[in-house]
Amino acid sequence: MNFVLPPEVTVKKHKLEGHWAYTFRHDTLGELGRIMLQDLPDGQCHVASEVAGDLADPMTETRLNILRPISEQITETLESVLGSGRQEEVLTPAPVGPKAPTEVVESKLMPCDRCGDTAAMLIFAYDATTTGDFEDYARKMYPKYSGLNVPTWIIGEPMGIAGFDTPSRVLKVWPHRESIQQMTPKTFNAELDELLANHCR
Ligand SMILES: [Zn+2]
Repeated sequence: MNFVLPPEVTVKKHKLEGHWAYTFRHDTLGELGRIMLQDLPDGQCHVASEVAGDLADPMTETRLNILRPISEQITETLESVLGSGRQEEVLTPAPVGPKAPTEVVESKLMPCDRCGDTAAMLIFAYDATTTGDFEDYARKMYPKYSGLNVPTWIIGEPMGIAGFDTPSRVLKVWPHRESIQQMTPKTFNAELDELLANHCR
């Protein structure tokens, strides 16, 4: 099947539970979701679309807005091939959290020295280089940081030889989404120390 995709979207075709599935990825939004084609016994084809992410995450809506027209395009193509058949489109969120049991996201909870409550969370994204990679971490960890409701940063690898003056890409995701910044450990630690010092004051 041929798609006309926006230039920033790529697709991978693979078998999933015996059916053909297409997983879509966006340059800056990371994984968008997947569309599965299930052949029905009556010769029809069922188009099932799954958007990636937690429905409570506002970014899921953004991903859905890109995935939906692609899904509609596929449904239209199938209709033209199969005739006016019964093609159904369902939009359900794909399971959230790390995909494979072996996939572990390293994170660290920073407690407040005074009250002992968690005051911040750091998520380490060692393999993240593109904006899309950071978005993947933000999506997978959404249930965790939104549940904890503490300031949360996603921190990438040092951009050079590790040291207090070597910047890393840092994305603050909670309580407000910010854009990716380059910060040195020196700057970042100063900001974190101030946050911890002001907890429960
Ligand atoms: Zn405190």
